[in-house]
Formats: sequence, C-alpha cells, structure tokens
Amino acid sequence: MRALSGREIVVATHNAGKLAEIRELLAPYGFSAKSAGELGLAEPEETGTSFEANAYTKAFSAAQATGLPSLSDDSGLCVDALDGDPGVYTADWAEKPDGTGRDFAMAMEKVEAALRERRASQPSQRTGRFVAVLCLAWPDGHAEYFRGEVEGTLVWPPRGTRGFGYDPVFLPDGYTQTFGEMEAGEKHGWEAGRGDLGLSHRARAFAKFANSMLENAG
Ligand code: IMP
Repeated sequence: MRALSGREIVVATHNAGKLAEIRELLAPYGFSAKSAGELGLAEPEETGTSFEANAYTKAFSAAQATGLPSLSDDSGLCVDALDGDPGVYTADWAEKPDGTGRDFAMAMEKVEAALRERRASQPSQRTGRFVAVLCLAWPDGHAEYFRGEVEGTLVWPPRGTRGFGYDPVFLPDGYTQTFGEMEAGEKHGWEAGRGDLGLSHRARAFAKFANSMLENAG
C-alpha cells in the first residue's frame, strides 16, 4: 500500500453532489479536497464495464494532469431484479434525451418502470445496493482501490428531497427513512454511532480509504 505524503487531495469528480459528500467524509480524517472542476481539468469519458475501471480512468487522468495523487469515486445503483442494472450506467440512465443534462426524477421512473415490467412489487423482489469504488491513482499509474456497498430496497414513490441522484428511492436495510429523507450525517452513518464503519456505500469506502492512509502514514 503506497501512502500519501500530504493531506490535500485532488478529487477527480465534476459531480457537485458527490463532491459535497466527499468533502464531508474527508474532513474528520484531516484531509481536504481540491476538485477536478475547480482545477479546470477535463472530464474523461467513462467507457469501462466495471466501477474499478471507470474509477481508474478518472483518477489517473487527474493525476496525469496535475502531477499529484488523485482520488475518484465511481458509483452506482445495482438492482437485483434488473440483473444488476443500472450499475455502471447509473448516471447514463439520467441523461435527458435532448442531451441537455441529467434528470434524476426521470431516471428513478425508468428504474421503477423496469421493476414493474418484471412484476417486482414486493420489497423482497426490489432489493439492491449502492456501490462506490474509490481509486487513488498516482501520476506513474500506480493505483489503490477501496469499495463500499450498502444493501437496501427500492421504494416507490420517491421519498425526501435531501441527498442527490437516486437517494429518494433507496431505503437502506434496517432503516425507516430513505437516503433522500436522511440528514447528511445519518446517510454517512455518523449519527447512528457507526464510527469507522459508516452507513452509505461512499462513507464505507471512505472509512477504508482514510484508515488505510492513516495506518500507512507513519
Ligand atoms: P458516476 O460514478 O459518475 O458514473 O455516477 C454515478 C451515479 O450514481 C451518480 O450520477 C448518481 O446518480 C448515482 N449515485 C452514486 N452515489 C449515489 C448516492 O449516494 N445517492 C444517490 N445516487 C448516487
């Protein structure tokens, strides 16, 4: 495991919702983030068929452009009844047909329509997980990966206006509120006193990342 020498990290994302969460998740561990958007870096095309491959594309592109170790997050929603879809295409399912950006209300409706087509009406038929893979890549191409997952059920209609993306339709196992209804700290798992473990896929991946960096720092 290669260690980071400083506490400032280039975060290879142009997604505002993710960036806000990443900043919150890094802060308790003493890391701060400069985003690819703020640094004016180009957004590479994600052509991989795994979260790991896409995470590497984004992190390595930012590392090459800045000469600094860079961290990316590739994530998505995998629904069992849909054979793991939308999976690595989670952001693509939100692309508006006229190419003017993303619409997550529409994307959630697409998931719901696909579940109805499969006659998945009971919670046990509507299981899935959010997955986040973090990749930390160096300019020489070396990379480390950290994966976090959270199991849950897809609900309809969407509930809550917090969070981003598909949060309003995701009910994590063992909870009564969707990610869209939870305060940020609850989605991260901090308020349940989960400490190092975290609740959301992203919080779990970041806990692994930060603990491993801190262990290897010194
Ligand atoms: P990508 O990693 O940029 O390919 O995009 C992943 C997509 O998954 C995002 O556009 C979000 O819509 C969705 N996603 C990832 N994490 C979350 C989350 O924590 N809540 C809701 N949606 C998410």
